Amino acid sequence: MRQIGDMVWVARNRYQEFTQVCPDCLGTCAAEITLANGDKHSIACGMCDPGGYTGSTGYIMRTQTKIEARQMEISAIEATREKTTYRFYDWSCDEVFDTETEALVVAEKMRLEKEDYDHKRMIWAKEHRDRTWTFECSYYRRQISDAKQTIAYAEARLNIAKAKAKEPAASPDRGEGDAA
Ligand SMILES: [Zn+2]
Repeated sequence: MRQIGDMVWVARNRYQEFTQVCPDCLGTCAAEITLANGDKHSIACGMCDPGGYTGSTGYIMRTQTKIEARQMEISAIEATREKTTYRFYDWSCDEVFDTETEALVVAEKMRLEKEDYDHKRMIWAKEHRDRTWTFECSYYRRQISDAKQTIAYAEARLNIAKAKAKEPAASPDRGEGDAA
């Protein structure tokens, strides 16, 4: 049974952020998309886009985890039916240890769990982004296709005389879009 004032070892992970060249666009800020029909497009890279108005930056933020065991003095103990929480002057946790080695083993386990979680999240985010990119691509392609139809229609409307000259016996509604 631990008591207030006991010196114990606690397991901690410290995180340090660092920047890395974007693994998807290699710093070019552009992502190449190949559709099932073989058409290739390049759009703004989503991996290194932090959101907001900045746009793709070409680099991403990564976190490095350092394990740590620290000897600290218990300043308060809170026990509920489910768990016991130990408080220290700038920290709190549910598990404390007698030796530095025990604390380091648990810190390493925490690091691996965090790494696993980050990895799964990254894979999920990447799949999600790929779907978004394909959607973005399809959206622009549709915009272009619609715009081309509008242009073809507008051009035909501006060339009624030519269409009529070619085909004097055309019916009144002739010449709408069917320029070929
Ligand atoms: Zn990128």
